[in-house]
Amino acid sequence: MDAGAVLAWRSLFAEQEKPNGERQREMSKQTFVIVGASLAGAKAAEELRKEGFDGRIVLIGDEPELPYERPPLTKDYLRDETPRAKTRVHEPGFYESHQIDLTTAVTVTAIDPAGRRILVDGEPGPAYDRLLIATGAEPRQLEIPGAALEGIHYLRTLADCDALRERLGAGGKVVVVGAGWIGAEFAASARQRGLDVTVIEPAAVPLERVLGKELGAFYGDAHRAHGVELRTQTGVEEFEGQGSVTSVRTNGGESIACDFVVVGVGVIPRTGLAQTAGAAIDNGILVDERLATSLPDVFAAGDVANAWHPFFARQIRVEHWSNALNQGPAAARSMLGQDVSYDRLPYFFSDQYDVGMEYSGHASESDEIVYRGALADGAFIAFWLKDRRVIAGMNVNVWDVNDDVQALIRSRQEINVAALRDEDTPLRDLVGQPDGVDDE
Ligand SMILES: Cc1cc2nc3c(=O)[nH]c(=O)nc-3n(C[C@H](O)[C@H](O)[C@H](O)COP(=O)(O)OP(=O)(O)OC[C@H]3O[C@@H](n4cnc5c(N)ncnc54)[C@H](O)[C@@H]3O)c2cc1C
Repeated sequence: MDAGAVLAWRSLFAEQEKPNGERQREMSKQTFVIVGASLAGAKAAEELRKEGFDGRIVLIGDEPELPYERPPLTKDYLRDETPRAKTRVHEPGFYESHQIDLTTAVTVTAIDPAGRRILVDGEPGPAYDRLLIATGAEPRQLEIPGAALEGIHYLRTLADCDALRERLGAGGKVVVVGAGWIGAEFAASARQRGLDVTVIEPAAVPLERVLGKELGAFYGDAHRAHGVELRTQTGVEEFEGQGSVTSVRTNGGESIACDFVVVGVGVIPRTGLAQTAGAAIDNGILVDERLATSLPDVFAAGDVANAWHPFFARQIRVEHWSNALNQGPAAARSMLGQDVSYDRLPYFFSDQYDVGMEYSGHASESDEIVYRGALADGAFIAFWLKDRRVIAGMNVNVWDVNDDVQALIRSRQEINVAALRDEDTPLRDLVGQPDGVDDE
């Protein structure tokens, strides 16, 4: 979105800056509705109570599950190393004991912003004083011949994961389409469960879009070392089989036999409800730093929200756990009329085999990558720089440094690149240090 468009949609918020008479009604008589009962929605409900809201909280989700976290679905839960209950956002009984009206397995089909009401499964639902949309994202579907064959899986929900756990239990051969985070983590877990795994990826290396070629190659090497067959620079043309998938044909003409397929080709924010209600949409629901949408008293958080980021001075939509964890509560405080400016740096983590990492920041405009430690050793920190300022950092098998990485990003200071590379210089010593000596 260009600067003019940003100003135009941000001016849509002007009308709702001041509370009106209705908003000043006693909180205890108000109803706050949250659509989407996953991490962002459930944490928002928790925060409302923590902050003393004593009105009605309605939390509605379309999955037949108590709110749960998704990271274990490519990791320990998928590998059958942890019980289902461990995926839950809250302890059993939490929603009852906090008087949160949680309804699962129902779909909110419309929002009526004029009537301040939602529709549930096509019927009039509760009226709201404030509404939070936390509808998340859904997997992008691959529309190619054979897409409807049995045995082609996507991985977003516990139900998806349960089906894949059964497949992993049966063993055999899986083709993974897409070497993004979901595909790469699934491939690692499938290898750990002993399956034959082939990954097909159109880019030159896994994870190239986020990490670039060199770091993508690092992950590619890790997968190969664990026995994954990697087919890069090739797409998928067709799923082949009679009823069930039995092979995948690449656009290089190769036919790869398999027992099932997992497709991980990105996600799409679930904006339909907000869009039909008239909210401003652009790669997600547009929200300001208070997480308010362009509709009066309607907020959005988590994967679905494309939020104005005060630090980066641009809209950013983050599809990661930590963002849902923190943005949900921030939206709740904003719904309560508190002064919120959500400016946490984007953060995520990934575990594949013995490679654990954390990433902070936003590297899309980087012009240089600097390493502290060697990729070949499997433990290092990568820094993305722009004009010699750190804008993102990823620590791989190096721990307790993420706060320092974030401090460096927040400092916006020109960095001494030699010192940044030097493993003997504590990172925190670099924060606040002017560049000085380094002329690289
Ligand atoms: C398999 C997997 C592994 C992941 N691993 C990691 C990881 O290692 N690290 C990391 O940082 N991030 C990871 N993520 C990303 C992280 O889980 C997401 O960023 C997070 O779940 C987003 O939370 P959310 O609440 O915004 O949205 P979601 O989790 O998508 O939840 C939205 C909920 O709203 C429901 N909903 C949508 N529309 C409606 C409607 N109209 N009516 C009622 N309900 C509705 C949806 O069904 C869903 O339950 C992973 C994601 C997946 C899928």
